[in-house]
Amino acid sequence: MPIDPKLPYDANNIFAKILRGELPCSKVYEDEHALAFNDIRPQAPVHVLVIPKGAYVSWDDFTAKADDGEIAGFMRAVGNVTRQLELDGPGYRLMVNMGGAGHQEVPHLHVHIFGGRQFFQMIAD
Ligand code: AMP
Repeated sequence: MPIDPKLPYDANNIFAKILRGELPCSKVYEDEHALAFNDIRPQAPVHVLVIPKGAYVSWDDFTAKADDGEIAGFMRAVGNVTRQLELDGPGYRLMVNMGGAGHQEVPHLHVHIFGGRQFFQMIAD
């Protein structure tokens, strides 16, 4: 079920628990602004999620409320992850699902990184 992006941040969401170390993850990268880990149901040979360390429900929430340092740090972290994964040469796809129409399922902002194959279609169901 997609989330309602207008609800307040739920500190018990699964990614909040991963950030607090209460649930495990397959960690790929971490810095002061972000944590990246492998998606549990990968949809490509490389499928990594990057999440900000701050409590933001969605892309909308993050871009409205995060300060410039958090936004810059998070963007830099996504780039660092793609380079660490050596996807900068072959290329990759980024995706952010937002709210109901975007079919966002976890109410903590996450950027999907897809790599390791060719992506032809603009939008996948
Ligand atoms: P979205 O539809 O953009 O909210 O995507 C949520 C993503 O989180 C899906 O691709 C799930 O497979 C992934 N996911 C859910 N739980 C976990 C978990 N515990 N560890 C890693 N990925 C997860």
